[in-house]
Amino acid sequence: MEKVATRHFGQKDSHLLINYIKDDGYKAARKALTSMAPPQIIDELKKSNLRGLGGAGFPTGTKWSFIPQGNPKPKYLVINADEGEPGTFKDKYILELDPHALLEGILITCFAIGSHKAYVYIRGEYIKPHQAFQAAVDEAYKAGFLGKNIMGTEFHLDVVVHPGAGAYICGEETALLSSLEGGKGFPRLKPPFPAVVGLFNCPTVINNVETISCVPPIINKGAEWYAKLGSEKNGGNRIFCVSGHVNKPGIYELPNGTPLRAIIYEHAGGMLNGRKLKAVIPGGISAPILTPDQIDVKMDFDSLKAIGSMAGSGGIIVMDETTDMVWAALVAARFFAHESCGQCSPCREGSGWVYRQIKRIYEGHGTPQDLRNLPGIVNNIGGNTICAFGDAITMSVGSYVAKFKHEFEAKIKKEVTV
Ligand code: SF4
Repeated sequence: MEKVATRHFGQKDSHLLINYIKDDGYKAARKALTSMAPPQIIDELKKSNLRGLGGAGFPTGTKWSFIPQGNPKPKYLVINADEGEPGTFKDKYILELDPHALLEGILITCFAIGSHKAYVYIRGEYIKPHQAFQAAVDEAYKAGFLGKNIMGTEFHLDVVVHPGAGAYICGEETALLSSLEGGKGFPRLKPPFPAVVGLFNCPTVINNVETISCVPPIINKGAEWYAKLGSEKNGGNRIFCVSGHVNKPGIYELPNGTPLRAIIYEHAGGMLNGRKLKAVIPGGISAPILTPDQIDVKMDFDSLKAIGSMAGSGGIIVMDETTDMVWAALVAARFFAHESCGQCSPCREGSGWVYRQIKRIYEGHGTPQDLRNLPGIVNNIGGNTICAFGDAITMSVGSYVAKFKHEFEAKIKKEVTV
C-alpha cells in the first residue's frame, strides 16, 4: 500500500532537509510556484477529495476557495498542531520525523490562498516536536525555501512557530486564534467564519498538520492518484492512532474507508490476551462509542456519520470485555468537565453536573433517578453552546449511557458486571 503522510517514517534522519530533498523534496513547491496559478492549485485540491484530517473532515480545497481574494487585508494560514484529543498522537510524529513535508505543504497552501505569513500553533506539551519543527524552519530559511524571493520567484513567506499552553480547547479553531492573538483561549461564535474574519480580523485558513503534509504529494502526483487511494468523497489515506486493549497499539496509515474490524484485528494485531471486544471509540474521545456489532463500518467521515458516530481525529480507543463502562464514561465526563472553557452555562455547569452524577453512580451512591436524569442533562448541553465542545459532551457521554445502560443500572443495584 502506498504511503503518503508517513512515507518518510523509518528512514534515517528523515527530519533533515538534505534527506527530504533527496526524495524529491520541495519539487512540488517549485512546480506550484513556477508553473501553476493559485486557482489551479485550489482546483487540484478540490479534485483530490482531501478532507480536513484534524477532525472536522471539511473538504480542503473548498475551504481554501473561501478566502476572498478581493479583500485588501493580509491573509493568513494557521496550522493547528494542538493535537489534544485523547487517543490521538499522529501529528507529533509528522512534526518530528517529516517536518519539511509540512513546511512544503505550507508553502504551497500560502501561495494558493495569497498568504505571506503562516503560524504553526503547537501543543504546549510537545517539546520535542516543537524543537524538531523549529529546526526545520531554520533550515528552510537558510536554504531559501522561506523568506523573500523563494525559488527565484517574487513570492515571499514567513513562518512563525508558536507553542500553546496546554488547554484542550485551544485545538478548537477560533479558540486557537484567540490564543494566538494573545487572549484567553475562548472559542468565538460563527459566523463570521475565519475564512473572512480570522486571525487579527483578517481572512484565515486553519488546517491540521496531517492535512497540509498531504499537499506536496497531491501536487506531484495529481489529484486523481490521491482521490483513488481512498473511498468516495474521502480521498487518500489517513493516519489512524490505535490505543487500548490491542496487541500492537500505534499509528497506522491506511486508506480512508478501511473497515474498523481490519484495523483492530489485522493491523493492530487483534485483542490483547485474546479477550472479547466490548466497545471502541472510533475518532477520539469526542466521538460516540461503538459496540462490537458496528465494527464493520468503513473508517471514513461519511460512513461513520451514517451510523451515528464520527471519524474525528482518527484516534481509535479499543476496550475489551474487562472494561467497566461506567468508569469509561466517568473518565470521559471528567475530561470534559475539566476542559470546558466556561464561557457557556450549559457546558460549564452541565459538564460538571454530568461528571458528578456519573461519579456518584460509579462509587455506588447513585439512584434510579440519577440515571433517569442523565440523558436529559446531557442532551441539553449540545446545540446550546458557542462551540462544538458542548455537542461533543452530548454525543460522547450520551452514547455510553444509551449503549451501556445496563451497566449503569447494575452499579445502582450494586451488582458486579466485570
Ligand atoms: Fe467554552 Fe464549552 Fe462554550 Fe465551547 S461549549 S465555548 S468549551 S463553555
